[in-house]
Amino acid sequence: MTMIADKLQSVHARIAAACAAAGRDPRSVALLAVSKTQGPQAVREAAAQGQSAFGENYIQEAIEKILTLADLHLQWHCIGPVQSNKTRLVAEHFSWVHTVDRLKIAQRLSEQRPAHLPPLQVCLQVNIDGSDSKAGVPPGEALALARQVAVLSRLELRGLMTIPQPSKDPALQKAVHERTRRLFDQILLAQPPGLQRWDTLSMGMTDDLEAAIAAGSTLVRVGTAIFGARPRLTRGETA
Ligand SMILES: *Cc1c(COP(=O)(O)O)cnc(C)c1O
Repeated sequence: MTMIADKLQSVHARIAAACAAAGRDPRSVALLAVSKTQGPQAVREAAAQGQSAFGENYIQEAIEKILTLADLHLQWHCIGPVQSNKTRLVAEHFSWVHTVDRLKIAQRLSEQRPAHLPPLQVCLQVNIDGSDSKAGVPPGEALALARQVAVLSRLELRGLMTIPQPSKDPALQKAVHERTRRLFDQILLAQPPGLQRWDTLSMGMTDDLEAAIAAGSTLVRVGTAIFGARPRLTRGETA
């Protein structure tokens, strides 16, 4: 087996163990393989093991990979910041965007989503721990943004996404993820018009996926544990 195959298997084992510990069905947690900075060959190796959903942060890099790997019919998720001048590329090439944190970006994505594609699946990125260096809507404004995004015709609003400050303490990791979970539940209870399928909590990465699953994550975004350490980037690295 290749190294990537081995590592994917251990990530699946970690997810299964975390689900067992939380009394959850392992099928309730999806694995998004974060392939930023990895070449197309690494994605092919993961795809050969049945991995079909991949996350990318840098739009230009992502588009090249998406076009190169078009024969594999993978599902691509944008998990990096989206500037206004990149919304068209994102709307045309991705299935999901996890990082919507402003109405203007959501409106552009909706207007630019090509008619022949299904609605773009989106999560609102929430700045759950108030860190000032990061993107994300403040928790207190998330419901208002959800109301505005839920009615956009070419978007389907699915849930929330977070990138908490790194912490080595599992209890702290879990406490932060639980705040996101409560916000998720509050928005569901408020029943914003247009919200059809509110089912996604995109939280948990290589270092905190167990805590995220314990708190209710339905989608973990894992890079390092699948592909190995990334080279350090010089620009635009947000996570
Ligand atoms: C890079 C990145 C990940 C994956 O992080 P790892 O620690 O390598 O698993 C997940 N989510 C986002 C938004 C990222 O930028």
